[in-house]
Amino acid sequence: MTYQQEKEVAISAVLQAAKLCQRVREDIPPAIEKKDKSPVTVADFGSQAIICKALKEVFPNTPIVGEEDSRTLRQDDQKATVNKITDYVKEVIDTATTTNVLDWIDYGNGEVSNRFWTLDPIDGTKGFLRQDQYAIALALIEDGEVKFGILGCPALSFDDSETGFIFVAIKGEGSYRMSIAGGKMTKLQVVSSEDVSRFRFVESVEASHGDQEQQNAIAQAVGITSESVRVDSQAKYGIVSSGEAALYLRLPSPKYPNYRENIWDHAAGAIVVEEAGGKVTDMYGKPLDFATASKMNDNRGVVVSNGGIHNSVLKALNLK
Ligand code: AMP
Ligand code: MG
Repeated sequence: MTYQQEKEVAISAVLQAAKLCQRVREDIPPAIEKKDKSPVTVADFGSQAIICKALKEVFPNTPIVGEEDSRTLRQDDQKATVNKITDYVKEVIDTATTTNVLDWIDYGNGEVSNRFWTLDPIDGTKGFLRQDQYAIALALIEDGEVKFGILGCPALSFDDSETGFIFVAIKGEGSYRMSIAGGKMTKLQVVSSEDVSRFRFVESVEASHGDQEQQNAIAQAVGITSESVRVDSQAKYGIVSSGEAALYLRLPSPKYPNYRENIWDHAAGAIVVEEAGGKVTDMYGKPLDFATASKMNDNRGVVVSNGGIHNSVLKALNLK
């Protein structure tokens, strides 16, 4: 058994962060605009603080490459926001102060190296603000490979009986899903290529994060006849790993041809799908490069499938 300690610490931290995110959402948070115009909320910062603190305590020498940093929060006019973040963090860690919350957030400013964590404290912030899907995504990358990944999806449900799941995968040991409320881990398996009734495809809600016209054309070309299911965040990887969809397509938006994907937007999801028997590449069939930088500069688009239909999808893209 490998990566057991990493798994235990990560599950506990992600569950704490999920609790904070759910609490913030009850209060309907206002969005703060980042320099690149993308939204961020007190929950993004609070989630990053909680998870980085937990990881650094047990793995002080493993850098964390996280999405957020505290630079804007340290400006004088941000004191009220910092206090608000600290109040939410205190509900989970009662010793939190404004000073250590800012420091914990900045534990996430590490660099890509031969062993590091990558963290998206809230993936799909736009979905979070819309009261739709979002994910807390954490992965451990070692020697260029994702060795462990966890997705917390507090708003996800497959039938109406339960809401909120975590997905966990260790390299070579399969993918598992557990209710956020606890209980047993269920082993996951992607949809088999014979089970055409579950041949759905998922894509982003945000049209500007992909090329929905081309995504629909490719899905049809590989025999998926139903309309796409639009879901925010890496919850899409959770859905594919659970056998509820055969394909997730993320082709570059014609509006943003130079966009490069971030490692924290895909590393955890990718291992969860691969360990459930699926396949993840870019649109050229190249493996995603999580080892070089925080942006995947040599990859374009992302194709996630049950494995069985992967080559047909790449063929339909007709890029080679
Ligand atoms: P999703 O909910 O799947 O659309 O993914 C949300 C993520 O999309 C955010 O974390 C952003 O990093 C990312 N994103 C922002 N702009 C773009 C873009 N033009 N193309 C692809 N992804 C983007
Ligand atoms: Mg993200």
